Amino acid sequence: MDPVPEIPFTEDEGLTMRRTEPARDPDEDVYTKFFMNHCCYDAIPTSSKLLIFDTTLQVKKAFFALVANGVRAAPLWDNRQKCFVGMLTITDFINILHRYYKSPMVQIYELEEHKIETWRVPRELTELFSIISLFDAIYSLLKNKIHRLPVIDPESGNVLHILTHKRILKFLHIFGSMIPKPRFLQKRIEEVEIGTFKKIATVQETATVYDALSIFVERRVSALPVVNEQGKVVALYSRFDVINLAAQKNYNNLNMTMREAIEGRSCCVEGVLKCYPHETLETIINRIAEAEVHRLVLVDEEDTVKGIVSLSDLLQALVLTPAGIDALFS
Ligand code: ADP
Ligand code: ADP
Ligand code: AMP
Repeated sequence: MDPVPEIPFTEDEGLTMRRTEPARDPDEDVYTKFFMNHCCYDAIPTSSKLLIFDTTLQVKKAFFALVANGVRAAPLWDNRQKCFVGMLTITDFINILHRYYKSPMVQIYELEEHKIETWRVPRELTELFSIISLFDAIYSLLKNKIHRLPVIDPESGNVLHILTHKRILKFLHIFGSMIPKPRFLQKRIEEVEIGTFKKIATVQETATVYDALSIFVERRVSALPVVNEQGKVVALYSRFDVINLAAQKNYNNLNMTMREAIEGRSCCVEGVLKCYPHETLETIINRIAEAEVHRLVLVDEEDTVKGIVSLSDLLQALVLTPAGIDALFS
């Protein structure tokens, strides 16, 4: 893992880091301090499900196990090396389908036959000890452009939990009421410009699922607003939704349209969760936290897509930027 850039120490605040430049508002760095003062262990729920896959398991069985257990990712255990060697996520499922799919008539041999270790290009595991600060966890998630961070018990070496942006925001939502509400939360999203507003990756509702997978692979985005012929957003298709193909065993037909794929989703959020440029940061954070989604689609009054406000953007702006650190765009 990339180390967090070294930032000198301020004794008065008892923190391990200092901003590279002075904050403009006195309350600008409340979230930075909050996450520096809490460790990963604090954000772990009292009970949650954890799956671990041996690297000799067949990839198809592994994805079916994710579906059967309602889990989105699993650490990979290499029994020869006796250590964790990586993660298996829905992005890996997308990469396999995209790489090996030929047509609805041809079975994807690699999905049917390969073991995790046969298929997988080793990528060093990014993990954190539970005693490390949530500030460091946010830095690691954003810098490595990943959405799942295993938290390890320093004594046993066991994985305790898979930390996500959502869990971190939930932790702030639950305990953040104890810290004073910063004034910048009342600013409008168009004023603070938190999010992506250019070159938004979208998909037409008449496009195929294979087209959507190609956009996921090429643009490396976590979700696509689905638009109609008039350019209005009609749905949202996220990487998570691709697992429905495994759940319904129809990953051999990636020629179906986005409209069909969306109608066939077994469980999903009703409608599209959106936000408008005039809405305040506080409204947007509350909406995203309450709906437990990873992003909102920024639209104008005609429902034309104008941007994406993702948890990565919010954590960068609220937590890392006040510390003078840019992990998302560097
Ligand atoms: P998703 O959004 O599908 O849950 P991620 O964005 O976290 O997945 O994963 C992107 C890629 O990075 C995948 O190939 C996944 O296996 C890998 N990956 C995810 N988390 C980690 C991690 N903590 N360490 C190493 N690789 C990871
Ligand atoms: P993850 O927990 O893997 O980050 P996501 O938040 O991307 O998952 O997606 C979880 C479910 O919520 C998916 O079915 C997805 O389509 C849906 N969803 C996510 N964001 C939105 C949104 N802005 N509007 C409508 N549905 C959404
Ligand atoms: P995420 O992968 O959602 O955590 O977001 C990482 C970055 O990609 C953030 O800056 C998002 O605003 C941006 N992003 C997410 N989805 C899209 C999209 N469909 N098009 C363009 N940028 C996006």
